[in-house]
Order: sequence, then C-alpha cells, then structure tokens
Amino acid sequence: MLSGSEFQGKIMVSYQWHQLPVSEVTQQVGSDLSQGLTSATVEQRQQAEGLNELPTQKGKSALLRFLQEFNQPLIYILLIAGLMTFLLKDWVDAGVILGVTLINAVIGFIQESKAEKAISALAQSLSTEATVIRDGQKIRLNSRELVRGDLVLLQSGDRVPADLRLVQVRDLQVSEAALTGESLPVAKTEAALPGDNVLADRLNMAYGGSLVTFGRGRGLVVAIAEQTETGRISQLLKTTVDLETPLTRKIQQLSKKLLYIILGFATLTFVLSLGQGQTWPEAFKASVALGVSAIPEGLPAVVTVTLAIGVEKMAQRHAIIRKLPAVETLGSTTVICSDKTGTLTENQMTVQVVYAGEQLYEVTGVGYEGEGKILSQHRPLEIEAHPTLRACLTCGLLCNDASLQKEAGQWEVTGDPTEGALIVAAGKVGLTSSRLETDYPRLDTLPFESQYQYMATLHAELDNADRQRVYVKGSMEAILLRCDRQLNAQGQLVPLNPQPIEQVTQQMAAQGLRVLGFAQGELTKTVEKIDHAHIAKNLIFLGLQGMIDPPRQEAIAAVQACQRAGIQVKMITGDHALTAMAIAEQLGLNAGTSALTGEELSCLSPQALAAIVTEKSVFARVTPEQKLRLVEALQYNGEIVAMTGDGVNDAPALKQADIGVAMGITGTEVAKEAADMILTDDNFAAIAAAVEEGRTVYDNLLKTISFILPVNGGEGLTILVGIAITVNLPILPVQILWVNMVSSVALSATLAFEPKSPRTMERPPNPPQQPLLSPKLLWRIGIISLFNVLVVLGMFEFILRETNNLVLARTMAVHTLVAAETFYLLTISQCLPSLSAWKSGASQPVAYVPFIGIGCVLLLQILFSQIPWINPLFATQPVSGIQALLCMGVGSFVVVPSLTFNRWLSALR
Ligand code: ADP
Ligand code: MG
Repeated sequence: MLSGSEFQGKIMVSYQWHQLPVSEVTQQVGSDLSQGLTSATVEQRQQAEGLNELPTQKGKSALLRFLQEFNQPLIYILLIAGLMTFLLKDWVDAGVILGVTLINAVIGFIQESKAEKAISALAQSLSTEATVIRDGQKIRLNSRELVRGDLVLLQSGDRVPADLRLVQVRDLQVSEAALTGESLPVAKTEAALPGDNVLADRLNMAYGGSLVTFGRGRGLVVAIAEQTETGRISQLLKTTVDLETPLTRKIQQLSKKLLYIILGFATLTFVLSLGQGQTWPEAFKASVALGVSAIPEGLPAVVTVTLAIGVEKMAQRHAIIRKLPAVETLGSTTVICSDKTGTLTENQMTVQVVYAGEQLYEVTGVGYEGEGKILSQHRPLEIEAHPTLRACLTCGLLCNDASLQKEAGQWEVTGDPTEGALIVAAGKVGLTSSRLETDYPRLDTLPFESQYQYMATLHAELDNADRQRVYVKGSMEAILLRCDRQLNAQGQLVPLNPQPIEQVTQQMAAQGLRVLGFAQGELTKTVEKIDHAHIAKNLIFLGLQGMIDPPRQEAIAAVQACQRAGIQVKMITGDHALTAMAIAEQLGLNAGTSALTGEELSCLSPQALAAIVTEKSVFARVTPEQKLRLVEALQYNGEIVAMTGDGVNDAPALKQADIGVAMGITGTEVAKEAADMILTDDNFAAIAAAVEEGRTVYDNLLKTISFILPVNGGEGLTILVGIAITVNLPILPVQILWVNMVSSVALSATLAFEPKSPRTMERPPNPPQQPLLSPKLLWRIGIISLFNVLVVLGMFEFILRETNNLVLARTMAVHTLVAAETFYLLTISQCLPSLSAWKSGASQPVAYVPFIGIGCVLLLQILFSQIPWINPLFATQPVSGIQALLCMGVGSFVVVPSLTFNRWLSALR
C-alpha cells in the first residue's frame, strides 16, 4: 500500500513540500494526521532509511592538531636550539633536544585529544527528545528514532527534531537563526505556499535544529538526518569543543612574557661566557642550556588535563559543562540565583488543604499514592453533599495536562507535578478524569506559562450544544482578577467576596503551601479556539487548593555549604511571596528581610534595584523577563552570578549570567542551548558541587604552577650563576631536558588528581580578576628557586672539589635537584595528612596519586644514571648507594622553606 508514495516521497525534491496542501503531504509520506505512523511502518522505515542523526564534525585533522603542539613560543626556542646544536655537529645533544621536543608534542597531543574526547562525549550524552504520535498514542522518544512520516508535536522550548511540514499551528514561532541567520523568530502557518520560496519564507516548514520559541504545532517529518536542510548544507553538528579558556589564555600570555625574559637571560649568558674566555660555540651552548632550563615545557598540557579532570568530576556530580570556561568561572561565583520549585524543593506535590464554598477541607495522605481522604471538620465526607468542593476538584482535574502512571509499583507523574497533585486530590473523593472527560470533552487549551500564571481549557457541554465551558486555574491573584461571582457552600452563585479568599491564601502560603485558585466560565457563543480574551472577566470563583512541596534535604546542606563559602544564595520564584519566604526559612537562606516581589521590582530603576538586590534573598512572583534585570543588577554590583532556568523566557537571563544553569530534566531545549552548565538531576546541590569542583580545579592549577616554575627558575639560575662563577656548566642542557620533560612531568601530572581540600568551601570565592601569578605565588616561586640553586650548585661544587670528577658532579647535581622536587611535591600535595588536620582530628581526603609519580621518578632516575647504555646519552655515570642517599638527604631540606612558606601563606589567608 505504501510502495507508490514511499517511492515518490523518497525522490521528491525536498524544496517542494511547502507547495503541497497538508492532505497531499500526508499521503506522500504515508502517514495519518490523527494516528501517526504504525509501529510496523516505523520499523520498516528505520531499517530502510536509518537513524535521524547527522554525521559529526571531524574537527581539525589529527596531523594539524599535532603540528599545533609545536606552535608555542617556548617550543620555538627549543627547536632553534636543537637546530643550532645540530649545525654545531653536536649530534647527541641535538638529537636529545629535538627528541624531547617531539616527546613533548606527543604527550601534549595525546592528553589534549583525550580531554577533548571526554568533554565532547559528555556534551553529546545530552540527547534531544521529541514528542510524536504513533499508533494513536502520544509518546516521547529520542529524536534519533524519528522516521519520515512521523507526526511530531512541537511546543515552545522544543528543538525541531527533523524537517517538518507543519500541519497544524497554534501561534507557533520558530527561531531559525542557525539555518537562515535570521535572529528574530518566524511565525509559522500550515497553509500551502505557492511559488519557489527561499528557505526563510517557507512559513509552513519547521527545519531540524531550529528552536520553538512560542506556541505549539504539529508537523509531519518529511526529511531526516542528512536529507534535512541542515544536513544538506553540510553544516555538521559541532561536537568538538574549544579548549581555550581565560586561564589557558593567561598561561599563553605568561609564556610570551617568559619568552622575552628567557631570551634576555640567554643573551646575558652568551655574553658572560664569552667574557669568561670561551669560544663562541661553547658560549652558545651555555645560552642554549639556559633557554632550555627556563622553559616550563609541560605546563600547557597540564592545564588542559586539569580542566578536563574537573569537567569529569562535575559530571559525576550531576553538572554537565557545556562551555569549558565555566569550569573556571564557577570557582569565582559569588551569587547563585536558584529557582525554587524542583531545584530547591523536591517537586513532589501533595494537596493538603482545599478551600471551597467558604469552607476549609483537610486532605490526608502524602505523595501520589492516592491513599488518603478529604475531611470536612475532621470527618470523611460524601462528595455529593459538597457541590462547590466538587466543582473545585473537577476544575483541577480537567484543566490539567498531567497524568499518573504506575511504574515499578509506584505512581509517577508525567507532566507538571503541580497538576499531578490535583489529580490525586480529586481521586481521594472518587473523581477521575476519564468519566468527567466524556461529559466535558476538551476542545482546546491555553497551556500554563509563568508570565500569565494561569492555564485554561475549553470544553464542550454534551447536553447543551450552544454552550461551552472554560476552566481556569492559576495563582490566586490571576484568578481573582477574572472573577466577579463565586459559589457558596450550597453551590449557588453569589457575588464575589475577595477578602476571605485573600486571607485564606495568605494563611496557606505562610505555611509554605503552594496555592492555586480555580474558576470556571461559560461561553454563550461557541468558539473553536480559546483565547486570553475569553477568560479576561466574568468568571466564577470555585476555590483554592494548597499543596506542600518539601525542600530537598541535599539542598538545605548545599545552601549552608554555599554560605560558608562566601556565596550568597537567592531564591527566584514565580510563587507567592509568603510561600517562598516559608520555604526559604526551611532552607535557611532567609536573611531576615522580606521578599521582593516582581511587582515591586518593576517599579525600581536599575540603580535602585542594584542597591536593594544585595540585601534581599527571596524574589517572588517574578517573571522570567525580570530574571534578566536581577542578573544585570547583581553584575552591576560586581558579582559573578550563576542563574538557573528552564523555560524559553529564561534564555536571556541564562545568557547574561556568568554561569547560566539549565535544568536537564524539566528544562527546555532553548534554555539548555543558552546555558553554560546543565544539571542532570535538576538539583541545587549539583550547583554547589560544581562550585566546589571549580575551586578545586583552580587550586590544583595553582599547585601545578607553583610546583613547575621553581624547578625551571632554579635550573635557569643555576646555569647563570654557574657561568658567572665557574667555567663548567653545573648541569648540561640534555640533563635539564631530562628533568623538565621526564621527572617534572611525572611528578606534576599527579597534581591534577589532587582531591579537594576540606577547606575548599570554607573560604571566599576566588577574585575573578586575580592574576595568575599573585605576589604570594611569585614569592614562593622565587624562594624555592633560590633553594634549588643553592643545593644544586652546592652539590656540584662539593663533588667536583672532592672527586675532581665532572661527570659525577653533574650526575649528582641532577639527582639532588630531582630529590628536592620530589620532597617539594610532598609539601604541596595533600598526600600527607597536614599537621593541623591531624591535630584537630578532622578527616581529610588523602591523595595517593603522587606516590605513583614518585615511584616512577625513582625508577627513571635509576635509568638516568645506572644504566650503562644511557650514560653516554645524558653524560652521566653510576652513583653509589651513599652518594644517592646524600643527594636525597640534601634535597629533602626543601621541606624547610616550603613548609615555612605554607605557614606564612595560611597566616595571610
Ligand atoms: P515556580 O516554578 O517558581 O514555583 P511558577 O511560575 O511555576 O513558579 O508558578 C507561579 C504560580 O503559578 C504558582 O504559585 C501557582 O499558583 C501557579 N501555577 C504553577 N503551576 C501551574 C499550572 N500548571 N497551572 C496553573 N497554575 C500554575
Ligand atoms: Mg514552575
């Protein structure tokens, strides 16, 4: 039956779909506008046409990326040094210098590729979902599984999963910026369009990859995967990540500065050597030695690896980084603005109180299990005797898009938990949607949107064909505004008396309950679609329902952790001010001031808002647009702001925030697209965890820098001083390269795995503009460098004088330097429990990775001097046990300056 159209559909030139009427499109793709495809057809097409996936971008070629490893100013020096040494026919040295440069590039290449893969794999793990109708059932699936002919439902916030010919739209607007470059959303239609329109004008098409910014619609899939317009222009999915961040840029700048300094010192060395009466090749070799010694070759790769490890740790703690710089910004975050519902609270709603017919009813039971009753004056009731209660619950049941399913013996809500709770409440007196929906079939819906604060549905009345009924539910304010009458206890119409209603709302809200109001209306003229104007006035107030939504336990702890860490937490919610305050109290984030409402906020000038925003911690009845103003006000005050969001209208605020945080479960694609970070569990605690990891990354990078630079500084100075006071180089260039590229790398790489320190969240955020090398760090680098000079030169001179053996003196000088490095690592790393922690009995995570590095270095140093065939390469000779111990002993003295300095540092903090 399908074969004819099947064939046609395949060869049909894709740019004609917009010209066909809906009926023809439906026939062409062999689908059905009410039932969708059958599972049999889906399976058949999936086999024939494959998955709806675009091939991923290859990125730069491996060769190019490998060559880029050499494109660093510091490496240029090495290459030039190697070349010159080669021209001087010093084969061994030239070979070692060039070989080491090559190894450096290989290590950097491997590490960066791994980091890149890990990060992009995480980004891809966030799959897009689509809602389709198949076999007459509405289902959600991964958009990879779509086939041609699938009937797709779109709503605001969705990403269009494939190329669709729209068959039905409701105020549908789509942003096609990625495809057409047009930044404004386009209003769509369903009518056939004659003529050969350009892509941007095909208003009845929705193209894969674009984002729905408003309204709803349905469309038939006419092209998937590479056949889509996005696929055709071969604008492939970008999967590679940019590894550049502010920090890596700072390091590049630092390298440039170092370059000039090193060149200056190299020249100085050259002149000094000539002054000492050396030939110019010898003088040149000395300056090469200096250049080689002062270059921290391993640094760039270590930074990337540390960032990548941070990203993975964050992912394990449910925070997925979309943009790498966020890892660093997290460490400096000073304010976190969080949604209340679902992020700070469980989003497990249970109706506890109903107010209807001027009477309060108590609802028992917790969760979605449906166990429990509605009590009137502590006694179970007969619903027929309470007509207004019945009307209120009916409204909650019919003006509702959620459903309950039993999964693994547990009732679960599909849709909005707020609405799920209303179904459960009605069920407690035996009201179910299936029965009521046959009496009042739904004709149309105005879905809930935060900025309107209500939802409305249009229903037919079976016994009266000229009348229609509307049900509206929403915030008490939004409902009361539209009502002029209410139902009394007997179910009779009486004029509206708002005062007791407002009072009851306040009482409920003060207990932390989320309050919804309910109303109904009659339309005397029948309409097809419901509009905001239809429910603007003359509604009948039915009642209120108050539901609890307990705070998440983890969130309480996380809020405390943030506050200890000097980070302000602010709650931003569309909910009632009193509800928000009560929940804030339970979370411990209320600073004693009242909430600022959206209404108050709208009257404030940007300056006034900036002045008041610091002291407030709860913002209630705030619209998404106002979130943007809050972010701007905080940033105006110099804060680094993380802001959460899930809806389409949150996108501007997420973009503006320093860290935009989108919800992984409830968030729309639009919000995720705008975000820097996505929470896979929607939980506030994940933000706090990410901040902690962000700080740890920064700490570890600083540790790495403060480890590596003194080694280079020490070597450089050794050469310089050595040249100035003696004729012999205390360490040879190849030996320095060995230390820098082999021993130092093995030791410093372990610092990327440092566990977080227990004090990570006990101190204020990192100042955002902090220079990489703070004065403190420069001091440390300077002092340790000097120590290194002292022990290396001392050892060299001592051995030379005692034995008159230049080779042995150099070998032992290198061993001493590496020993000093190793002991220095022990003082920087947390591999040994710190004395203060041990005294106070606090448990501290202990790093074990450094011991692996130290083991490796021990082996490597044995290779370096004890293996006969290696000796000529590095101009070394075997040392005796006593001599080895001497090197270690002298090196171990580094703990004195380092620990003294640690003390000094902590005193400064
Ligand atoms: P938040 O997500 O910050 O808690 P919302 O913007 O979702 O706030 O809700 C604001 C108000 O809108 C709520 O206090 C409630 O009265 C009302 N509301 C929430 N969800 C719905 C819904 N699904 N239908 C109708 N009204 C709702
Ligand atoms: Mg909400």
